[in-house]
Amino acid sequence: MKIVINGIHANLRFSAAHMIPEHDSCGCIHGHSYIVDVQVEGERSGKFGFVADFKEVKGIVREVCADLDHKVLLALENEFINFKSIGDSVEFTIAGKEYKLPAEDCRLLHLKSTSAEDLSEYFAHRVFDRLQEKGAEISSVQICVNEGIGQGAFFTKSI
Ligand SMILES: [Zn+2]
Repeated sequence: MKIVINGIHANLRFSAAHMIPEHDSCGCIHGHSYIVDVQVEGERSGKFGFVADFKEVKGIVREVCADLDHKVLLALENEFINFKSIGDSVEFTIAGKEYKLPAEDCRLLHLKSTSAEDLSEYFAHRVFDRLQEKGAEISSVQICVNEGIGQGAFFTKSI
């Protein structure tokens, strides 16, 4: 069985800035109000016969959202971002453009990109692992990270 949580109605959101290096328009720093939809599949189990507790799933997704909220998201493994130093500030160049941002304003992610595709994978792994830690008998977590309303990327993390 599967449970579904719609991010816009359940308030699973965060706002963040990012850039997609080398992309014509998305190469400049810009922001999105992201919305995260979640589906969890598994066996019904436990005292209440839940696939997973809605409240628990929302809590986990909100923790991941809160960690990214109001930050500049930077992909550490992006081949076009040349990181110069990471300390109190984060200095990097992209195609000759120089950036220096306070570290506290950034969230450095071990990803190749901060596209909706990569962020959905990031969320799916985290939510799946946290639910398993809490003992839920789940077989998959599907996440859709929407860059605003109407466009998003799905990723499914399965056992
Ligand atoms: Zn974007």
